[in-house]
Amino acid sequence: MSNSLPPRPLRPATLLVRGGTMRSDQDETSEALFLTSGFVYENAEQAEATFTGAATHYQYSRFGNPTVAMLEQRLAALEGAEACRLTATGMAAVHAAMLSHLKAGDRVVASRALFGSCHWIVSTLLPRYGIESEFVDGADLDQWRQALARPAALVLLETPSNPMLEMVDLPAVAELAHAAGAIVVVDNVFATPLLQKPLTLGADVVVYSCTKHMDGQGRVLGGAVLGSKTWVDEVLQPFVRNTGPALSPFNAWVILKGLETLSLRVNAMSRSASAIADFLSERAEVAKALYPFRPDHPQQALAMKQMSGGGTLVTFELKGGKEAAFRFCNALRVIDISNNLGDSKSMVTHPATTTHMRIGAEERARLGITDGTIRLSVGLEDVADLIEDLAEALDAAGEVLARAAE
Ligand SMILES: *Cc1c(COP(=O)(O)O)cnc(C)c1O
Repeated sequence: MSNSLPPRPLRPATLLVRGGTMRSDQDETSEALFLTSGFVYENAEQAEATFTGAATHYQYSRFGNPTVAMLEQRLAALEGAEACRLTATGMAAVHAAMLSHLKAGDRVVASRALFGSCHWIVSTLLPRYGIESEFVDGADLDQWRQALARPAALVLLETPSNPMLEMVDLPAVAELAHAAGAIVVVDNVFATPLLQKPLTLGADVVVYSCTKHMDGQGRVLGGAVLGSKTWVDEVLQPFVRNTGPALSPFNAWVILKGLETLSLRVNAMSRSASAIADFLSERAEVAKALYPFRPDHPQQALAMKQMSGGGTLVTFELKGGKEAAFRFCNALRVIDISNNLGDSKSMVTHPATTTHMRIGAEERARLGITDGTIRLSVGLEDVADLIEDLAEALDAAGEVLARAAE
């Protein structure tokens, strides 16, 4: 297995195509798919040396696999991280990053606006193991300051958040967290590794669901954890090797091929998302449209400081509550109804009745999610077709409003 890239720094679009590629002695063009659970040794001595660490040789795909290793190296190079470990899903990545680091008696502080399953880990799972957890409003630095006035072991946050696209000031929170003794874990799914670099903004660990933009074509699940070599080798690695959330080599291969077009896709999707946010904000049926780089986003300045693009998601609130929202979703003919995101196909979800149904009305209200809130993941279709589809669906939602006004 060889890799002949020059030692000088390469740009993201190049790393996405070539980073981490290792050719086997068959000289293949495309990354090889090593769909194998185990590996064989030439003799007993080599097996012994592999287990003592004196020789480098793959042992078993739960510990490591060449196709998976290519993806780990590509993602580490792209992120500017020393090391990466992959997992079967994004949630396995979040779970491993947290549970490998924490022990009974520790304290976790997290932003309230988290992906549903991340919220469950912090609110429900961690306390079962004697780990105290506390939520703060991610945009409110005073709440972070107050929560981190006491020692903590780990801070978990998502920026921009799902679904309200709320920003957390990463350098400010990282400074508070480090002073409290905590590592900062950032769920960077919404920004993608192209639009935000948490490690350069003070974070210690970055986690991804590769299911989203990285595959980006709705095929496979995957997760990634990135951080320093010491933390990955000494803290994360023993946990993932022994608990077994390994990524399938097949899924790693699909994601490797997905990454080759990541920057083309994310840039095109972000351009369309920005145009769609402008379109939505002009429509009478829309009470408010949220997009990080728009001047009416409450944290536009912070978004522009820590991100290099506004991202591929737009969240908006329809007047007329659930009835108008359902009418709108059902009237779409190009855009799908799906709770997935980051896909080449555009998708809408109604968070109050799907992804954020379980957290309850009170917590939804705290997060600003109403019965009229719609999250739109913008895909790769022609933006004119998307805008026409949205316009027709808004007309349908408008009929609900007109009837209510009669
Ligand atoms: C999808 C997602 C996850 C979980 O990833 P899976 O691959 O579905 O397990 C975590 N965080 C965010 C922000 C996500 O969008």
